[in-house]
Amino acid sequence: MASGGAGKDKRVVVVGGGIAGGIIAKTLQFQNVVTLIEPKEYFEIPWAQLRSMVEPSFAERTLIKHSEFLTNVTIIESHATNVTSHEVQTANGHTFPYDYLVVATGHPGPGQVTRNDRLKHFQQDYEKIKTSNSILIIGGGPTGVELAGEIAVDFPEKKVTIVHKGSRLLEFIGPKASTKTFNWLIKKKVEVILGQTVDPESISEGGVYVTSGGEKITADCHFVCLGKPVASSWLHDSILKGSLDKKGQLMVDEKLRVKGHSNIFAIGDITDVPEVKQGFLAQKHVSVVAKNLKLLIDGAAEKKFATYKASSDMALVSLGRKEGVAQLPFGTFFGCLPGMIKSKDLFVGKTRKTLGLKAE
Ligand SMILES: Cc1cc2nc3c(=O)[nH]c(=O)nc-3n(C[C@H](O)[C@H](O)[C@H](O)COP(=O)(O)OP(=O)(O)OC[C@H]3O[C@@H](n4cnc5c(N)ncnc54)[C@H](O)[C@@H]3O)c2cc1C
Repeated sequence: MASGGAGKDKRVVVVGGGIAGGIIAKTLQFQNVVTLIEPKEYFEIPWAQLRSMVEPSFAERTLIKHSEFLTNVTIIESHATNVTSHEVQTANGHTFPYDYLVVATGHPGPGQVTRNDRLKHFQQDYEKIKTSNSILIIGGGPTGVELAGEIAVDFPEKKVTIVHKGSRLLEFIGPKASTKTFNWLIKKKVEVILGQTVDPESISEGGVYVTSGGEKITADCHFVCLGKPVASSWLHDSILKGSLDKKGQLMVDEKLRVKGHSNIFAIGDITDVPEVKQGFLAQKHVSVVAKNLKLLIDGAAEKKFATYKASSDMALVSLGRKEGVAQLPFGTFFGCLPGMIKSKDLFVGKTRKTLGLKAE
């Protein structure tokens, strides 16, 4: 149970236990009565998944059971399916009343709900990569590029092809970063086909795939690395349906409250905050909302509330174990320096410490 101080009896329901939801549940767990609704039994560091595909043991540190760090939270392993003005409904047929709600369902999680199954999944991906001579990657955004980088560095003998429908790789950051990444991949003998798509179902005998432009690619296996839509379909018939924008994101004010709802906040990738969607920014949302929740519960004046300002575009994409590309407000950097920041440990130790766990 929550102990001591105002708000100890206030019920806060957090929906979504990814980067934003997992961290806010941890932050609030001794101040309020916190319930987390999340289908998976574990927290996953999403940007480490590509390394886990080439080194499955890496996932041991990146998949963390919620119960390990949410010691004072009621954890409900189910999907939320609806929300009314006073409760959240779940797929397993239960309802959870709330005084305050935090929506953090950035993207649909992976299919595996147990940590063991997720570990097995990485092992299977690894076997698939190891036993293939040629690999097709569909999608040249951060996931496709980081996967190509991991394979090209750890398995330089494999033939890797990326097919991307856009006119450049990594369209979420600037063209300079795209060009440098493209050149790096070409140097590593990765074939990059731009402006085309591939239907993974188009595979014919002998492992031949046909692109939208009619090109034939032979590959022993493929990975689909296309961006996922935000996970807001569960809100379509809810009291929040009018707060969704055209992209399915929740519209929030500068205090990160869902527009039109004084006791409901949204954080992370689900929000319409105009910035590149990043986990380190989701963590900044957490700080703002944790403060504002406390002020709201304490009955503080609105002017005391923390406000969130959209961040300028910043991103770090790893290219294998030692190199990377970084777009920062003051320039684009490439090679070992961004590699030193991200690519060795992929911020895994840092994220584990945020959860109050040992880095190793
Ligand atoms: C390849 C890759 C590399 C990246 N690199 C970086 C990086 O270097 N640095 C960085 O800061 N960011 C990086 N990001 C972005 C970062 O992963 C996201 O911005 C971050 O995960 C967003 O956190 P979130 O909590 O909003 O959403 P998510 O982490 O997507 O979590 C959403 C959670 O909601 C759950 N959920 C969905 N629907 C429901 C429902 N109906 N009911 C209950 N639960 C539900 C899901 O299971 C999931 O656990 C990277 C992303 C990718 C894919």
